Formats: sequence, C-alpha cells, structure tokens
Amino acid sequence: MKSLAEIRNDFIKNLSSQYSSKEIDIIFYALAENFLHKDKITLKLGLDEMHEDSQIKSTLFQVALFHLINGMPYQYVIGYTEFYGCKIMVNPNVLIPRPETEELVDWISNDFENRNKELNIIDLCSGSGCIAIALAKKMKAKVSALEIDEKAVETAKKNADINKVNVNFVQADIFDSTGNNEIIVMDDFDILVSNPPYIREYEKEAMDARVVEHEPSKALFVPDNDPFIFYRGIIHFAQKKLKPNGRVYVEINQDLGEKTRELFLDYFNYVELKQDLSGNFRMIKAKGISL
Ligand code: GLN
Repeated sequence: MKSLAEIRNDFIKNLSSQYSSKEIDIIFYALAENFLHKDKITLKLGLDEMHEDSQIKSTLFQVALFHLINGMPYQYVIGYTEFYGCKIMVNPNVLIPRPETEELVDWISNDFENRNKELNIIDLCSGSGCIAIALAKKMKAKVSALEIDEKAVETAKKNADINKVNVNFVQADIFDSTGNNEIIVMDDFDILVSNPPYIREYEKEAMDARVVEHEPSKALFVPDNDPFIFYRGIIHFAQKKLKPNGRVYVEINQDLGEKTRELFLDYFNYVELKQDLSGNFRMIKAKGISL
C-alpha cells in the first residue's frame, strides 16, 4: 500500500521530462482532491498517511499517471478546467478552452458593460459550451449555442448545469441550409460569437503532439485550400439571423489576420482586428452588416 507521498514521488519520477515540478504538483493535487474528496491543504498535511481505501485510490492514480505519460492533456485526465471564472468539464469530445478565448469573452463583456437591456446572444461551434456559459454568467443575456457533435452538446449541457446558467444548446450544423427548425424559430441576435476550427491541416506538423493526438480534430482543422470555410458559414448565418445593429465576434488564425479581416470587410462596414495578450492577431469584431 502506498502513501500519498509515495504516489506523488511516482508522478514526479515519471512526468519530469514533460512537466515542470510546479505543474506536476498542480496536476497531482487536482487529482488527489477529486479522488480523495479532501482539500489541498488537508492533503498536503496528510501526505504520509495511509488511506483506508488506498488500494482502490492508488489504482485511480496509476490510471491517471498512465494517461499523462502517454501525453494526454492533463485537463482531460483531471476532467475539468477553469475558463473565465467557470468550472468547465472537458473530455476528448471537446477542445480544452484556451486563454485566448477568455480574451474574446472579455472583449464582449467589456463592450457591453453598461448595457441594461437583455441581449440575445448565439455561440456557433460551441464545443464544451465555455463561451456561451461564461457570457450567460457574466452578462444580462439570453444565450443560445449551436454545436454539431452530439457528445459535445451533452458535455456542454452538463457544464451549463455545473455553472447554474441557462443556455439553449442546439445540436446543429451551421452549414445546414435547409435549417434546423429550432434555429429558424429563434429570434434575431444582438451578438454572434464563435471560435470555429481554423488551423490548416498542414500546420499540424508544427503543433504539440498532445493537441494533435488527443483533442478533437474536427474542432481544430480546416482544409489547406479552404481556411475560411467556417467564417463564410458564420457570415451566412449572420446575414440571416443578426439584427441590423448586431455584432459578430470571432477567434481567428493568427497567421491569417489580415485576410480574415478582408473577408469580413466584404460584408460588414466596420471590422476590427485585435491582438491577444501574446501579441498575435487573434480576434475580430464586425458590425454594420450589409444585408
Ligand atoms: N487556438 C487553438 C489552438 O491553438 C485552436 C482553436 C481553434 O481551432 N478554434 O490549438
């Protein structure tokens, strides 16, 4: 039977080539909190204790360690992550929310800070639901979200429950021009937001294996010869469902900033390209749609 201290040593020994010791501690204690239902301080103080049900628990740690050694992102192993103050459950059916996407939510939230009127918001390609949920929590708004993948929708609905917000999640393909009834009866929107797939297939080579091998490809990649496929779908959706004074906010491929801006300028009077905190052109705001 192993004490927690011994299990922690196994983590350090096996993960040091992939993670810093600080990261290993964050991962280890997040897992321990989950498995042992104790807070971090109690766990730290009781590192040398033997737990009554240690045998079962040490198997859980071993399985988690196995996945981590195999390069599974630690957020999937822990089962959740933080996004803009929300606890978001994640699994390999959904992309792990990125800090850049928090900046997109922050942009919207700041732009509408002093609005009292209830806004009607839709999030397209919503994945885990992180954007829709964060906006529903932060703003006075009625929020809907579309996502094509059934399992992702299931996860998103659970995330809305965890965060005690109301979001209308609809399983639908944004390219389905025959229209899903539920979408057709939805009102028009003040804000359309999306973090769609935007990485070109050929960019895969330069990416972290943890992302490429474990996160859902259909949430990440677009064909090399058609990188704007989702933005055209978003613009088409906006032409049908955005209010005349509504706005579109999207996350974009940092290497295609100017080209994406030009695409939006064909349909909107005002388009702003914004850098993220790392200085990459990462998001766009568009308003004044030409109908
Ligand atoms: N920014 C994410 C990444 O770097 C990709 C998100 C997306 O394709 N929408 O992996």
